Amino acid sequence: MAILLDGKATAAALRQEIAEEVKGSGMTPGLAVILVGDDPASRIYVNNKKKACAAVGFYSEEITLPADVSQETLIDTVKALNKREDIDGILCQLPLPSHLSDRAVIAAIDPKKDVDAFHAVNAGNLLRGTPSILPCTPAGIMELLFRYHIDIDGKRCVVVGRSNIVGKPMALLLLQKNGTVTVCHSHTRDLAAITRTADILVAAVGVPHFITADMVKAGAVVIDVGMNRDENGKLCGDVDFAAVEPQVSAITPVPGGVGPMTIAMLLKNTLTAYKNR
Ligand code: NDP
Repeated sequence: MAILLDGKATAAALRQEIAEEVKGSGMTPGLAVILVGDDPASRIYVNNKKKACAAVGFYSEEITLPADVSQETLIDTVKALNKREDIDGILCQLPLPSHLSDRAVIAAIDPKKDVDAFHAVNAGNLLRGTPSILPCTPAGIMELLFRYHIDIDGKRCVVVGRSNIVGKPMALLLLQKNGTVTVCHSHTRDLAAITRTADILVAAVGVPHFITADMVKAGAVVIDVGMNRDENGKLCGDVDFAAVEPQVSAITPVPGGVGPMTIAMLLKNTLTAYKNR
């Protein structure tokens, strides 16, 4: 039976460590979250982030803007937050309404306060191997692998997905830990033959049950980033967990795997941004 990589418990341990570091230290890291419009999923994510901040003793502030806000007003909001001494981290909840450019908004955030690590400066530092703030989801996966003593050095790592938020930074972080990394995407030929070579397989595709048992090597470590809804509206990952779990050495569940680690890393980044400033 596979080891279940418990992101919920690991994130709780990480949050506890952060809370202990902050408590009584005089530090009050501050996170500002910008929410544009009233998308229900974004509302849930923002509420979770605020709750997580409160639980570890951070200051958090939500800035809610109407769905029809202009690009100029949104950028001005970011610039005002850049100047605030009580705000160490700024994030703009994505996706934005279609008339707004997320690229322009991210570019307006002071890279030192870019706790999502989406700014080109932080992406560039990651590429060069000198990052200060890491993108939360891939960093959360690395933390999970570290805490479960899963060695990456020399391992064959396959990342399915090449988004700027997950796939690409994930590949870079695995490479930095001396993994031999292959990145697959929708144009990859004979995907299953490649995924079957993986000692560590990361699925960040966004398609329910995309990774089936025949695509996974026996004894592999499988990380499921996917957060999808199945035909019954139930949350599920990119991996066919029931079929894959019996043949692998370790696997993340959905929910309770990568998701909780992402928010814990956001807190870690906010604390890092506070210390860096
Ligand atoms: P994107 O849609 O931005 O990227 C998906 C990637 O999957 C693309 O690179 C795409 O290839 C690739 N892909 C799609 N179809 C195929 C296919 N048939 N074969 C091979 N590759 C394919 O998604 P994200 O990276 O933003 O997110 C991926 C998943 O992770 C989603 O379910 C999302 O909800 C979840 N997620 C979870 C988080 C968490 O905290 N747990 C955080 C962020 C995301 P191509 O580039 O060629 O189009």
